[in-house]
Formats: sequence, C-alpha cells, structure tokens
Amino acid sequence: MTACLFCDILSKKVPANIIYSDDLAIAFDDINPQAPQHKIIIPRKHIPTLNDATAEDSALLGHLLLTAATLAKQLNIADTGYRVVNNCNAGAGQTVFHLHVHLLGGRQFIWPPG
Ligand code: 5GP
Ligand code: ZN
Repeated sequence: MTACLFCDILSKKVPANIIYSDDLAIAFDDINPQAPQHKIIIPRKHIPTLNDATAEDSALLGHLLLTAATLAKQLNIADTGYRVVNNCNAGAGQTVFHLHVHLLGGRQFIWPPG
C-alpha cells in the first residue's frame, strides 16, 4: 500500500487531536479548519475514495454519517446546523486519498458550495 497520511494518523505515526475513536472509525481536528468546528471522520479501513467503496462497506459508510451526527450533538452544532462533506477525487477537492467525511459547523454556510 502506498503511504497514506490518514493511515499514519490511525497508527499514531502522525500526531492529530483525536476527539473520537471506536472499532470502525476515528475523528480528529482538521489541521486547516474551514469553520469554527471542522472535524475529519475516517474509517479504520483504508478505502481510497467513495468510488472504491462496495456494498460490503454499506454499514461502515452509514456509521461515518451517524458518527458525524453524534459529534455534531456533542459539539453543540446539531440544532444550528452543520455540513457533512465527502470530496471524491481531485476535481471535487480531495487531497487525501483515504475516504473521509468532513464535519463542519459553527458558522453560516452558503449553497451551492464553491
Ligand atoms: P480533502 O481535501 O481530501 O477532502 O480533505 C483532507 C483534509 O485533511 C483537509 O481539510 C486538510 O486540511 C486535512 N489535513 C491535511 N493534512 C492533515 C494533517 O496532517 N493533519 C490533520 N489533522 N488534517 C490534515
Ligand atoms: Zn489510508
């Protein structure tokens, strides 16, 4: 497997402020936050992009979304509103090729996104 930054965060080779961890996923602060709250939620399983997920990953993908909702409540952004984003491939802005969702909150968001 090629070097993967998020696998290195999972193995603690690269430090991160991990705010959540379970058997399937972890969440940590984004190093370059785009909102007052900006967390990255990743599966422990290395899946490069959403395109690479299969039916076998259905529960895992659901778990990432439910984790985002749980964290949003803990961070007190659930009622005001938050955004959950997956950038798939370079044209959508993906820069780390280990599937992840961004949880963003604490400010007003516009639509459509840039
Ligand atoms: P993407 O652009 O692939 O959707 O999201 C990758 C995210 O990872 C970006 O928001 C970027 O700021 C974040 N990121 C990149 N390198 C690091 C790092 O070393 N540590 C942490 N905590 N986040 C990172
Ligand atoms: Zn990885």
